[in-house]
Amino acid sequence: MNFAIKLGLSTLAALFAAGTASADTLIHAGRLIDGESSRASTKMTLRIDGSVITAIEDGFTAPGDGDTVVDLSESTVMPGLMDTHVHLTGEYSANSNLNRFVLNEADYAFDAAKYAKRTLDAGFTVVRNLGDAFNVTIALRKAIATGDVPGPLIFSAGTSLASTGGHGDRTNGWAAHFGADPGPKQGIVNGVEDARKAVRQRYKEGADWIKITATGGVLSVAKSGQNPQFTDEEFRAIVETASDYGMRVAAHAHGTEGMKRAVIAGVASIEHGTYMTEEVMDLMKKHGTYYVPTILAGNWTAEKAKIDGFFPELVRPKAAEIGPLILGTFAAAYKAGVPIVFGTDTGVSAHGDNAQEFALMVEGGMPPMEAIQSATSVAADFLEIGDTHGRLQAGKQADVIAVPGNPLEDITLMEQVSFVMKGGTIYK
Ligand SMILES: [Zn+2]
Repeated sequence: MNFAIKLGLSTLAALFAAGTASADTLIHAGRLIDGESSRASTKMTLRIDGSVITAIEDGFTAPGDGDTVVDLSESTVMPGLMDTHVHLTGEYSANSNLNRFVLNEADYAFDAAKYAKRTLDAGFTVVRNLGDAFNVTIALRKAIATGDVPGPLIFSAGTSLASTGGHGDRTNGWAAHFGADPGPKQGIVNGVEDARKAVRQRYKEGADWIKITATGGVLSVAKSGQNPQFTDEEFRAIVETASDYGMRVAAHAHGTEGMKRAVIAGVASIEHGTYMTEEVMDLMKKHGTYYVPTILAGNWTAEKAKIDGFFPELVRPKAAEIGPLILGTFAAAYKAGVPIVFGTDTGVSAHGDNAQEFALMVEGGMPPMEAIQSATSVAADFLEIGDTHGRLQAGKQADVIAVPGNPLEDITLMEQVSFVMKGGTIYK
């Protein structure tokens, strides 16, 4: 883009006269994890022209006239990471319930831009946002795509869908005199007609995915974290309508019954999956349903449950009970061969800490290379962008990150991302 200025006009003229291609960026990678191969390679060069990787070359290629070299010879280079479960519009705190009454749409928008930058700086070049406030992440998705705001490529579910009193009913716990009775336009569904209307409303608003809260959840001000919260008919209506409009469905689920109904109805992913039984695992394998573990959110809520007054009294026992179980669920699901894609529920824990999930996955029995693949090639295929993203290969978009040292030996190095390139532009 700006290489003409750097080169000077005479050099540029000479380049064109010789019929040479435009100046490239050459990344010298001490170690390369390409997102797909089971082994890392050493001393490689990534050749990047504009926004695209044009070649992967053995050794450290010397730069031609006008080429720029990025020296990552002491680092491990890999594809941009993907987190398939984030909430960019907020970060949970002891004030979260009050915030719903005092924050305006613009407040959420500025917060989301700040958190998007933090996410990108942590090496995450793609995220799926599963539930936001005021469709902020749909607007943010557009602003990032045009380059107006730095951040990851966003797939957004807009407002999540729940039934009355369900996990995604944002008016749970409100005093009755507020008279809150949200309907499908606000994401609250009771019956098949509502379900269809709510999905169509998300389509109209520009959502890419549909997020449903299939069972109770930890952080909503309601008693149960596990009860099923849609009927079979409602699940089917949601999945079928979403499919008509080219969208897939992500289901938040802790309890077994709601999880089972969601999988049978054909959702694409189960989020959290805490009380996943062997029967549910078998159903997920049969239906090709992905598991998005969010172990980080489980650990975070378990820790915060120890602090007096941090959570409302209805929430605290759920956080203490459900939070610590997710690591065990992950370990069992991995062992059973359930397809797993990286996702953290960040926005519960702090934005920018997303990569802490890797160490938890390794603790749960997944080898480091597979954990990295779950956030690169596996996530790209899951999000249906595998043709362009998720692997360092010629022809793919230049979303490239680096960490110091060897994350295959110390997975916590994933938390020290030192270089971020997205679409050929260096952000860090
Ligand atoms: Zn979530």
